[in-house]
Amino acid sequence: MEKEDIKILKIIIYIIIFLLFGIIIITCKQAPEDYIMTVTGKIPASQMGLTLEHEHILVDFIGADSTGYFRWNKDEVIRKALPFVMAVKEKGLETFVECTPAYLGRDPALLKELSEKSGVKFITNTGYYGARNNLFVPKSFYTSDARQVAELWAQEFENGIEDTEIKPGFIKIGVNPDDSLSPEHIKIITAAALAHLKTGLVIASHTGPDGPALEQIDILKGNGVDPSAFIWVHAQSGTLEGNIRAAKEGAWISLDNVRMRGSDPSARGNIDWYCNRMNGLKQEGLLKNVLISHDSGWYDPAKPDGGTFNGFLDIFDTLIPALKSKGFSDAEIDQLLIKNPADAFKIQVRKL
Ligand SMILES: [Zn+2]
Repeated sequence: MEKEDIKILKIIIYIIIFLLFGIIIITCKQAPEDYIMTVTGKIPASQMGLTLEHEHILVDFIGADSTGYFRWNKDEVIRKALPFVMAVKEKGLETFVECTPAYLGRDPALLKELSEKSGVKFITNTGYYGARNNLFVPKSFYTSDARQVAELWAQEFENGIEDTEIKPGFIKIGVNPDDSLSPEHIKIITAAALAHLKTGLVIASHTGPDGPALEQIDILKGNGVDPSAFIWVHAQSGTLEGNIRAAKEGAWISLDNVRMRGSDPSARGNIDWYCNRMNGLKQEGLLKNVLISHDSGWYDPAKPDGGTFNGFLDIFDTLIPALKSKGFSDAEIDQLLIKNPADAFKIQVRKL
């Protein structure tokens, strides 16, 4: 090769390298980082870390007409809950998704204080919990249409909850476990669809069996929302076939009542039962859609000293060793507790 040719070749190589770097820099700049909304502000989804996606610090079952912050003493609740939060932090927990909705004991300021005291990130929610025949739904719901309800929820995300400046990190709703949804619950899931399209908040719906889960997914799709914006809460009350069908559509399957209970580990709802359900989903290549949690806690203001507070350790002490003995890898367990929650809770509008 002539000297001149080598020179030209070198120049061409330099130009290619220059262009490649340019493309890399431009694409990095164009992809904004996914983020999560915690009670202390937004964080990159990559910093969510080990997460329990459905737990409670406080639940007040008295009903929408009678509940309010006067029902509990924040310091007392924190005194009771903090040791349980610290115990699970010892296991590596970084983010705690608090699933108590408004009118059922949601207290964003309390969660913020608990977050600052514990060093654990907390996520709270917006939305109405229609399960238990609308006991926890405020009266204003009945005189509003789905669009007005969605607007209220979106306002909480834009301006903060009440005067706290704390923003919700997801939409929490609830429906009855009946075969088909009531008109009120159709309105709630429709409002959730509209609020999702405005905010990008994922929708976690207390649901239970297959029927109402699949119906909600259909309503979301009818409103142009991709099923990946839907977390089927208490999916353990559905069938494996129902879970598979919803997951294949892209929905999140929340197996969220993991507790060590009773002596028969294979009984429905016990540790072996959860391992089998997860294995069934794994065989279909759907572990990427599974979320796990305890649905544990909580301080109940109706009981003396808040009643019995159940901890958040069974997944770490019992479920993970059981999953490992059944051939689940560390990477698969990280997927359930780290990767999937970050994917599910990232703020992103998911259109069909
Ligand atoms: Zn719950």
